[in-house]
Amino acid sequence: MSHDLRLLHLLPAAVLVTQDGAIRFANAASVELLEAPSADRLIGRLSGDFVHPIDQVRSSNRIQQVAVPGQAGRPNKSSEFRIRTARGNLRMVLISSMATEWDGAPAVLMCGLDMTHQSEIEAQLRESEQNFRRLFDSLQDVYYRTNAQGVVQHVGPGVRRVLGYEPHEIEGRTAESYYPHSSDRDAFKAAILADGEVSDFPGQMVRRDGQVIDISISSHALYDHAGNFAGVEGIYRDVTQRKNLERELQRLATTDMLTGIANRRAFLETAESAYAHSCHSGEPLTLLMLDLDHFKAINDRYGHLEGDRALVAFAQAVKSQLRASDAVGRLGGEEFGVLLPLTTLAEGLEAAHRILQSVRALQLNDDTGQAYRITTSLGVGAFRQSDRSLRDMLDRADQALYLAKHRGRDQIASLETPGD
Ligand code: GH3
Ligand code: MG
Ligand code: MG
Repeated sequence: MSHDLRLLHLLPAAVLVTQDGAIRFANAASVELLEAPSADRLIGRLSGDFVHPIDQVRSSNRIQQVAVPGQAGRPNKSSEFRIRTARGNLRMVLISSMATEWDGAPAVLMCGLDMTHQSEIEAQLRESEQNFRRLFDSLQDVYYRTNAQGVVQHVGPGVRRVLGYEPHEIEGRTAESYYPHSSDRDAFKAAILADGEVSDFPGQMVRRDGQVIDISISSHALYDHAGNFAGVEGIYRDVTQRKNLERELQRLATTDMLTGIANRRAFLETAESAYAHSCHSGEPLTLLMLDLDHFKAINDRYGHLEGDRALVAFAQAVKSQLRASDAVGRLGGEEFGVLLPLTTLAEGLEAAHRILQSVRALQLNDDTGQAYRITTSLGVGAFRQSDRSLRDMLDRADQALYLAKHRGRDQIASLETPGD
């Protein structure tokens, strides 16, 4: 038993050995639990003296039960008892006991775990869990976690509002199902794998009702103990409203308010990228510069407001002759530009003629019903590999426009020669 005793002193659980109710052995943890000055001061005392009166009957019944011969060597089921320590403090202790021998005579071995603070901890845990739940449930963002295969393991209740699904409908499925463009998902995966995390990563998702929404994802990669990629955890939020606002601001910043076509800045930006594309690819690009003829006279005769209406009708007439890939912009006043990507000079001249005709054909009426017509002059410029910048091409189109004006207006001019 001497080996056992050393071991018993090391146990964090309180251990007592009693014979006829009197304590024969007390390990260090039991001295501490019972708040006795030393083990010696416990020896000889009745263990029952430390049991709270409420629990005394139950305690002695259990000790008698383990002492019956058939039960020898088997511990009873642990149960909580109120214990009063040597200093008079109350403790809740989980006790299990079994029959044993001590100095060759029958004895009872008791083992106790102090549970006094357990209930406090439980209450604290419960409260923090409730706080977390409340926060989690009211979160506008959608919390989610996937495994390495992209299968959603857990998704927060915010998904009801954002995607219109119940969490259980999403869990167990791959996140891919909710991406309208697989490229979004691929870009996200690549970023997560490269950096381990992403912040405010843009993308789109499809709601249950089919509506496509803009989302922003902030997530980090999860790794297992061996350091292998184990999935992704993070949040995504619906940023459709913000994106709509951004799109509207973008539209306002790039659109001419009177005619609804691109403004000067947006048109030149488009022209720059088309020019850069042709520089790389060598593909043709044609540019038209348009200026309304004697427009000052239109204003003078029919009023500035009617002049505005004529500008709107003019812009529509030009647009009606263009493909979706072409671009038209208002460069200022009554001056416009048309960009024709992948268009040769010959094709560009054809487009210029169509525009010239459609402007001639415009039937305009002022508010008194008086009919009038407008005409435009066009200068045509074509991309040349020898150009140093877009400016060179714009200048040629501008000079051609000047030439068209000089030659009498309502016509097309070009400084380019076919085959340039
Ligand atoms: P041309 O180009 O054929 O040489 O003659 P023009 O009379 O059109 O030439 P000019 O450039 O001298 O005049 C342009 C006129 O266009 C002057 C201005 O009143 C008018 N204009 C410019 N912007 C607007 C606009 O936004 N609304 C209206 N109604 N008129 C405008
Ligand atoms: Mg003019
Ligand atoms: Mg002008």
